[in-house]
Amino acid sequence: MRTPLIAGNWKMHLARQPAGALARDVAALVRDVPGVDVALCPPATALDAVGRALAGTRVLLGAQTMHWEAQGPYTGEISAPMLVDLGCKTVIVGHSERRIFFGELDTAVGLKAAAAIAHGLTPIVCVGEAFSERGRGETAAVIARQLGAVLALVPAASVAGLVVAYEPVWAIGSGLTPTGPEVDQVAALIRARLAAAGGAEAAGAARVLYGGSVKPENIGVFLEQPEIDGALVGGASLDASAFGAIVRAAAR
Ligand code: PEP
Repeated sequence: MRTPLIAGNWKMHLARQPAGALARDVAALVRDVPGVDVALCPPATALDAVGRALAGTRVLLGAQTMHWEAQGPYTGEISAPMLVDLGCKTVIVGHSERRIFFGELDTAVGLKAAAAIAHGLTPIVCVGEAFSERGRGETAAVIARQLGAVLALVPAASVAGLVVAYEPVWAIGSGLTPTGPEVDQVAALIRARLAAAGGAEAAGAARVLYGGSVKPENIGVFLEQPEIDGALVGGASLDASAFGAIVRAAAR
């Protein structure tokens, strides 16, 4: 049995004070929800404040990206040891906004995932097709390429600990979503790739999330899919009661 994970991606929102307040509200709302892991990924500038707000709670601290080197001349970047120092347990890598707006390539995503693992962080690896790619029937090929670049660099022994978020680019922030069975089909493809890299047992332990316009009203459709183990939530994670409702829907 895989423990579901609900992770909130706050993107470039909230300075320290409101970020700490939102984290405290979320932690209070999810305190007694059983059988689900919860993570919040604030902007880097609020990691310290949110980490303090989450201290002693069940909510994990996560970052939105990182560099693959531990240190060096990389202006503006943040490394895995720096995230560990802030108390992070997880880090999003390869979010489509980083791929699209900052030119992040598949290989960089693989390097980031491998470096995160090497430093004890759980990478949440984002994969997903653009609308045009979906239209051309290329979804499976895009997922295979993006995930392949990660699995080429991640040790087979670490596959079981991976989290892969299937986030169709066209569903992010748009209010549009694929159907539950469509998401489940892609999640099964992802799990097959994980099995090829790390074996069936490891693939069965790794978690596959759905992300893209998740709300309290639609989370049930995704969670009822056998291959889906939770969600990566953007917009709705900025509202404590909406995010709390999504976490409650994942309770086991
Ligand atoms: C995201 O950015 O990872 C995301 C899923 O955003 P939203 O929930 O707002 O679509």
